[in-house]
Amino acid sequence: MALSELLSKAFGIDGENHELCLAQYKVVSAQAPLFYLIMISAMFAVAYVSFSTAPAFLTIVMPLYLLTGFLAAYYGYVIPRSITLQAYRKAIVRSLHTSVLVTMVFGISYSYWIISILGFGEQKLHYLVLAITGLATLGAAICLMHLRAAALSMAVFTLGPLTVYLWMTGEPGYVIISAISALVSFVFVFVATRYSRDFSEIIMRRIEVEAKRHEAELLSQSNRALAELDTLTGLANRRAFMSHLNSQVNDAKARKIQGLAVGILDLDGFKQINDIYGHSAGDHLLQAVGKRLSEMLPPRVFLARLGGDEFGLIASEYDSNEQLIKIGEEICQVMRIPFDMDKFSAHLGGSVGFAKWNEEIENAERFFEMADYALYHAKDNKRGGVTIFNQSHADTIREVSGVSRRLQDASFEDEMSLVYQPIVSSLNGKTIGFEALARWVNPVLGVVSPDVFIRSAERAGTINALTAVLLEKALDEFKSWPQDLFLSFNLSMQDIASSEAMLRLISIVQKSGFDPARLTFEVTESSMMRDYERAMDSLNLLKNMGCKIALDDFGTGYSSLAYVRQMPLDKLKLDRKFIADIETDRNARAIVHAMIEMCKHLQVECIVEGVENVGQFETLNAMGCKIIQGYYFSKPLKGADALSYLSEQKSPDEFEQSPMTSYVGGFLIGQ
Ligand code: C2E
Ligand code: MG
Ligand code: MG
Repeated sequence: MALSELLSKAFGIDGENHELCLAQYKVVSAQAPLFYLIMISAMFAVAYVSFSTAPAFLTIVMPLYLLTGFLAAYYGYVIPRSITLQAYRKAIVRSLHTSVLVTMVFGISYSYWIISILGFGEQKLHYLVLAITGLATLGAAICLMHLRAAALSMAVFTLGPLTVYLWMTGEPGYVIISAISALVSFVFVFVATRYSRDFSEIIMRRIEVEAKRHEAELLSQSNRALAELDTLTGLANRRAFMSHLNSQVNDAKARKIQGLAVGILDLDGFKQINDIYGHSAGDHLLQAVGKRLSEMLPPRVFLARLGGDEFGLIASEYDSNEQLIKIGEEICQVMRIPFDMDKFSAHLGGSVGFAKWNEEIENAERFFEMADYALYHAKDNKRGGVTIFNQSHADTIREVSGVSRRLQDASFEDEMSLVYQPIVSSLNGKTIGFEALARWVNPVLGVVSPDVFIRSAERAGTINALTAVLLEKALDEFKSWPQDLFLSFNLSMQDIASSEAMLRLISIVQKSGFDPARLTFEVTESSMMRDYERAMDSLNLLKNMGCKIALDDFGTGYSSLAYVRQMPLDKLKLDRKFIADIETDRNARAIVHAMIEMCKHLQVECIVEGVENVGQFETLNAMGCKIIQGYYFSKPLKGADALSYLSEQKSPDEFEQSPMTSYVGGFLIGQ
């Protein structure tokens, strides 16, 4: 290796290795004060002990010159903070070069100074000066160990000339010191070289570890982003939605944002398209829905796909119900515009449930549940529309939650019973069947309305068990009643949505020995719409067994005539809301009349529910309504009372028809 190469290796700085330079700069900067302390103390000590023997130039001027050089060097070493990264890196390399140069110049000047001092005074003083110099130089070089070039130049340029000088004097004491100094310098160079190599290896390893950690962090960041993404639509997924909702709720609690609302959109008609055209078409449709929603929603509305055909919305700055209704209706409207798919055009709809934030809501989960309830309500009562969670919903939930706790512990066998309401032929007043209606008397709550406990059992997932118990009881009781009577039994949405539950009900009917032809199952429109295909399968199962099917509460839900035509219906029960004003409201009369006519054409029996007085009865009679159920004939009765009612009821001959009236163009005309 050439000398120049050797020198540049020993005293050079690897300016390309920024991380190593930075680490060296940091350590040397931290140890620089110790270096200065040692060297300045040594200078003062040497000046002090030689003060009386050496001339003032050596004991005052030279130390001051060295001290000034030191301070100037330190000034050049420190890097200002306010510079760019590029400039900072360059400045560090420059500072490291400066420190090597300074130690070189200082070392030569210092050794020149000491050699000059050794020309004065006696030998004892010289040993003292040499001891101070040797120790101080070693100490100072150790402070510079992390920067090998500076440590070596400190040792070599301070002790080197001194060692040579002492050797050249030929004086035995000085020669021994010179030999020891050479040996110590050699060992120091060896140790400093190894130490500096280890140090740079540690730094390089640390850089590698740091790089790997950074890489892992980037990876985990992108994993996290993927975990929060719905891969199908590219929207945020349920997890991201809930965590955003959580943070928005916290902000709302801290009053950092106003008018927070959470909404859920559920598509209508998506399942049918998925079933008919396949999952891939369904996927494309969901993507198109996601795209359409993101294009129409303002940026302050956070959109996510919650799963299936449900999308979530988080909106801030929506203070009034009107604003929320407006955006909800816009969403429903946009969903009704047909989607052009490759081979077909998809017609969808959507219902939206919203909940508005208020201080009383405990947490994000509860807030979300409120929107979910509003959606549930929208789907049942306002399909294709918007519902905002309100006080009456809150009251219902509170009532239902109290009920649901009791219902959980209730013994269905002991606490549940049935009452029976006559269904009567309006032609002759003869009871042709009974509707079985569930009753629950709880030891603590007392009588609970079926509207409440049925809904509660549906939510708690215990409705299937309840229906099974009720059906067993009803069949058992009704079996011995006159054979010309039919029994109408209500099914819940979850009964017809579960094939297991259906099979269980079928087996109950079969085991009971009850003639299936005498049994009618009532289902509501909204329960059909939840999962139309499955509901249809269930109805067909019941039909195949020989049972009859009635569509209950007709007119309160979706009222799609297309579905009515497709369903295997035997009976249609007109909801009582049309009957209440039938005597006074011309429109109500027109609707009921149209429905009665429709049933005739579809060859489906029409039963009108909720007939309470003679006026209503006569009006319906005039319209050609043949079957009636309502308080006018009887309220729901306990089994024994129903049997007495039957035995007491007038014979068809005794039954007095109302004065002949007829229904013409919305008016009742007496004859
Ligand atoms: P629904 O099936 O439409 O039953 C008719 C409801 O109207 C009964 O209320 C009945 O008492 C009431 N009603 C009958 N005639 C009149 C009338 O002239 N005026 C008035 N204002 N009301 C009349 P109920 O017994 O309270 O039952 C309410 C609802 O609870 C039922 O409506 C049905 O949806 C549900 N439900 C009752 N029992 C069962 C059951 O065993 N299973 C299922 N899944 N649901 C049931
Ligand atoms: Mg019913
Ligand atoms: Mg009904």
